[in-house]
Amino acid sequence: MAEDLPPPPPQAKSGVRCASCGFDLVGVALGQRCPECGTPVMQFAANSQTSGKAVTSLVLGIVGLATCFSYGVIGMPCAILAIIFARKAELQVQAGLAPVTSLGLAKGGRICGWIGVALNAIGLLVAFGYIFVIVMSLI
Ligand SMILES: [Zn+2]
Repeated sequence: MAEDLPPPPPQAKSGVRCASCGFDLVGVALGQRCPECGTPVMQFAANSQTSGKAVTSLVLGIVGLATCFSYGVIGMPCAILAIIFARKAELQVQAGLAPVTSLGLAKGGRICGWIGVALNAIGLLVAFGYIFVIVMSLI
């Protein structure tokens, strides 16, 4: 009969906070209540704030674009992280840990991230080209 049991509900990760009291709900499963104030975690999920990962993704994506003239040294890591954080934000939404509105931010972060990767790749090629020319002139 054990195989008829539904899978255990996902547990909140660290940083997921109760909407009522701000208590860190790490390890609390969806459907359970906040151990601090008793607010149901399902209700918390529906009312939770915009995914921090989605905001981080968009900010990193914009930074990655804005710094693409730094020969990719700063912009490339930011752009790659923007894509990673966009994916994490989507997983948060799918798990019910962030509102669906976070998807727009995550999408913007991913788009900026991919454009940033492309532009910074060009920047890195230019940088390597300069280094190559300098090295060749020294030989
Ligand atoms: Zn609480």
